[in-house]
Amino acid sequence: MMQRRILDFRSQLGSLPVRSRASNLRHPQPNQMPERKHSPSRQKPKLGQHFLVSTTAPRAIVDALGDLSQATVLEIGPGKGVLTRLLAPRVERLVAIELDAALAASLQLEWMQPAGSSVEVLCQDILNFDLTHWATQHGVRLQVVGNLPYYISSPILTHLFAHSAVIDRAVLMTQREVAERIVAPPGSSDYGLLSATTQMYATTENLFTLPPEAFSPPPKVYSSVIRLTMHSRFEELGVEPVGFLRFLRQVFALKRKTLGNNLRASGYSPAAVDAAFQRVGVDTRVRAEAVPLPAMAGLFVALTADDS
Ligand code: SAM
Repeated sequence: MMQRRILDFRSQLGSLPVRSRASNLRHPQPNQMPERKHSPSRQKPKLGQHFLVSTTAPRAIVDALGDLSQATVLEIGPGKGVLTRLLAPRVERLVAIELDAALAASLQLEWMQPAGSSVEVLCQDILNFDLTHWATQHGVRLQVVGNLPYYISSPILTHLFAHSAVIDRAVLMTQREVAERIVAPPGSSDYGLLSATTQMYATTENLFTLPPEAFSPPPKVYSSVIRLTMHSRFEELGVEPVGFLRFLRQVFALKRKTLGNNLRASGYSPAAVDAAFQRVGVDTRVRAEAVPLPAMAGLFVALTADDS
């Protein structure tokens, strides 16, 4: 079930609707601000650096991963280490991937311990980090967590999906609009290619929303924390991933067209499209955004069978 709430600095605000709650949010008082650590580097806006300063959100994010006592956690973009410090005592092993060399070096210094440290900080681009190789080499499965750099949220999600076979769960902060699209059900105005793709790989939950003031420097947008519980649907729906993902890109390509028109524009013959719709029991005038994944998979199978 999807839950939505905005985390306040001091408490979680009752049950007001999301948007009206925003106006009630107060700035933290100086004595409620977390202690400022010496900044090892100047902030790099290009790297999406908005560091969490909320005193409640980091714990809520880590709690959302559940019991970590036996877990290997991959942290994306640890930054100044606010999540890393909460995670370290809870996990069996933690690998944190940070692209900013100065931030990575500072964390490496902080976590440099005698042999046996459970925290490893790698200075690397997460998009070049081979999760499957790393997990296989260490004989583990991964829980993923991160306050994502928003400029590459979508490529990071795609990267996680490519390695979803070694991931159990991911708790991620994205900008609110992206989170809303990820969890949107078919037929809703937010449902589209991102929703369909994500929901082929995972069950999705929107956990809570944070105002810009929860970060330093504050981003221009609200942010939401989502949880993805990896659960591939390709086998269950009888579709092969590469072909079906290409099909999804085709059917969501032209937003305002009906699904039938999009398929014909993609090169399927009108007769094949009509036959596929009839076989699956879908109205030809429907838009792609309204079609649930099992019916979409049925259309793909029917059209591909007709192709061969
Ligand atoms: N986790 C910290 C927090 O919540 O305060 C920092 C989050 S900040 C939104 C995103 C972090 O991701 C930054 O530290 C940034 O340097 C890092 N980052 C940006 N691009 C990255 C990439 N391609 N691979 C790994 N880390 C990246």
